[in-house]
Amino acid sequence: MIFNKKQPRSVKAVRGEKKLIVGNWKMNPQTVLEARKLFLAIKKEAGNFRRVDTVMCPPFVFLGDLAPRISGQKCVLGSQNVFFEEAGAFTGEISAPMLQSLRAKYAIVGHSERRAMGETDGVISKKISAGIKAGLTIILCIGEKERDAECAYLQILKEQIIDSLSGVPKESLSKIVIAYEPVWAIGAKATGVATPEALLETIIFIRKILSDLYDQPSAHAMKILYGGSADETNAGSFMRDGGANGLLVGRASLDAKKFIEIVKIADSL
Ligand code: PEP
Repeated sequence: MIFNKKQPRSVKAVRGEKKLIVGNWKMNPQTVLEARKLFLAIKKEAGNFRRVDTVMCPPFVFLGDLAPRISGQKCVLGSQNVFFEEAGAFTGEISAPMLQSLRAKYAIVGHSERRAMGETDGVISKKISAGIKAGLTIILCIGEKERDAECAYLQILKEQIIDSLSGVPKESLSKIVIAYEPVWAIGAKATGVATPEALLETIIFIRKILSDLYDQPSAHAMKILYGGSADETNAGSFMRDGGANGLLVGRASLDAKKFIEIVKIADSL
């Protein structure tokens, strides 16, 4: 993919633009006391960085304990998933209104670890609609399993975007954040990390798909995050050179110091 050195505003991370840093704790930590300690340590510092919105996504079971500890917009809560029905006989599921009642503002949908358990774009689409209806902002994860030289991965990303957003009207796009997370770069088994150059190309591609689906101003206005082995050593390059408007952080979000360092870097850009 070829692009001019002088990139348009829509693809270049703009200095001073508010970044979004999201922590995905996955199935960690193991106790509510540890969750509280981690949340409070991050919240204490997060308020110092005005050009960053910070979101913590703990396991569902900790949301109730953390909700009363939120102070304003310093460090808000999100969930790692949401079910598409509002109520009823759906054993083990958690609805969007339930999350809303626990002060969650965001919901991660379509994480690759859930897709690996069988979640399809059709299900993801229904979850997005349910979340938006309840007032949640959706962090929609997309990403290819492997990056092939023939660029078949671009078609995979395109299909994930089109199918997942099939029920989302243009007026609701402000409630969607895209998290580009190449599966090969996620977690302890990652086989690599995206380079800022490759990330920038992919973000240009994602904005083009969004622009074709909706229109250019809408595509331009959407936040696109990067996720996959992001930490305090590479965070700056993804946001400064890779065109990401923020990061979805897994492992490094379990370490308050590392996570705050990432927030600090985001604030400085
Ligand atoms: C994730 O699972 O969303 C993620 C980005 O994980 P990690 O940062 O640990 O690669």
